[in-house]
Order: sequence, then C-alpha cells, then structure tokens
Amino acid sequence: MIARSLAVLFAVVPFGALSAYAGADFVLHPELKELRMQAHFIYYGSGFAADSARIATEEIGRMWSESPDGKPFVVRVGSEDYDLRMEASYEIVAEADVRAIAKANVDPGVQFIRLEKGGNPGDRSFYYLSGNCGVFYESDELGISTTAAHEFGHGLGLPHPRVVDWRGKGRPPVMLPRGCLVDAQYQWDPSVPAGKPGGTVKPHTRKVLQFDIDNLDLGHKLQFDVEGRASLGRAQNTILGVSPQRSIDLDDPNSPWIE
Ligand SMILES: [Zn+2]
Repeated sequence: MIARSLAVLFAVVPFGALSAYAGADFVLHPELKELRMQAHFIYYGSGFAADSARIATEEIGRMWSESPDGKPFVVRVGSEDYDLRMEASYEIVAEADVRAIAKANVDPGVQFIRLEKGGNPGDRSFYYLSGNCGVFYESDELGISTTAAHEFGHGLGLPHPRVVDWRGKGRPPVMLPRGCLVDAQYQWDPSVPAGKPGGTVKPHTRKVLQFDIDNLDLGHKLQFDVEGRASLGRAQNTILGVSPQRSIDLDDPNSPWIE
C-alpha cells in the first residue's frame, strides 16, 4: 500500500493537474506576464523526518521565486519580459513503490529525491546535472543552508560559476559552491581573513540572484508549444541506493552528477 502524503506549496497545483502537463515544467501566462516554473518533488528514503521533505521543498520554492530585493525575477521570452514564479509541491512515497512510479514518469518536472539523515563522512547532497533526481541529507541543514535550492539549480542545468573568488561582488549566488571566497559578512566567520578556516562562503547567506536566473538562459532553451508549455532537463528518473555516493557509478555511469 502506498502511504502518500501530498502537500502543495505556493500555489494550488494538485499532483494530478501537474501530471497532465506531462513533459512540461514551464508554463507561460501571457495575460499575467508570468512564466511559471513547476516542480513536484517525490521523496523516498529511510529514517528521515517527514518535516524535512516539507522544509526542503519550501526552501526551493521560496528561493527560486524571491529575489533579495523582493522584486520578481525577470525572464525575456521573445521580445517580452516575464516575471518568473515557482510552484513547488511534494509528496513522500514508500521506498517499495518509488521505482514503479519513476519508471512510469515522463515528466522532467517530477523530481525523485532520496532523503536521508546523513552525517557520515562523504554524505553530501547532490543532484544530477540537468536531471530530475538526487539526494538530500538532513545533515546539510535543509531549509536554512540553501543546499536544497542549490542542488535543484543543478537539476535545472546550472553548474557552479567559473569564478571561485566572489569578493567585491556582493551577495553570493545560490550556485556558488562551498569553499569559495566571499566578502567578510558572507563568511562562516566574518572576523577571519579570506581563505583561512572559517573564511569561506557560509552557504546560508546565498540567495538565488538574477545572475542565476540569467544563467538558466530560459529565453533560448525553452521551446514553447501552442499552449505555452515547455520543459527543461530530462526525465532521467534514477532511483538511488541506500548509500548513494558509493552506489552512484553502478546506478548511472553515463550521467554527470554534482554536489
Ligand atoms: Zn553544487
């Protein structure tokens, strides 16, 4: 029996309605001048707190909808500017059922996330680049560290920025990886010199910036159908084993993944 708890955040998008968009995870609303990015997260795993699924999904939906200055993100499609809004929803499924669900999925907007407690050496959340699957560890401080939003960015096809020294550039973008240099107020410890222990980016200070949105290059990548729907990424549907970092090569050797 499938124990499904379904929750919808930020917008009323029941799972059934989202499935009807099979293959589409972006919808243009010309009358509202809005581009909606939709993702539905399916969590499976062992021993995680149910609240972690909600917290991670909320973080992703919030961060990819809100710029630091409160203005909407802007995406140019053709000759028009659209406000970007994210609609994120989630459900938790039993590990015994997730493979069948993934096998039937054709929608890259549906994400399959192994959720684990973590805390062991090597347990670092990751995502497949331009894929729809990965693993989140509770030990990565889901909901406050911006890790879930960062990993989802990888799923959207974003690598880490080429610049690893972000000093003088202000707030770090969400895709800046751990270990990068930033202005003092964004460090783990603002009082230490850059590069010394504590002198690297504190992920909690990252925000999705228009910089990250521009890097998605949505205006060029999205091919809209007559109904204004498009998708990004692929329905890779990889289901990860219990020790993802150790089983990854066996799972999908041809697919790049990134922390
Ligand atoms: Zn990363």
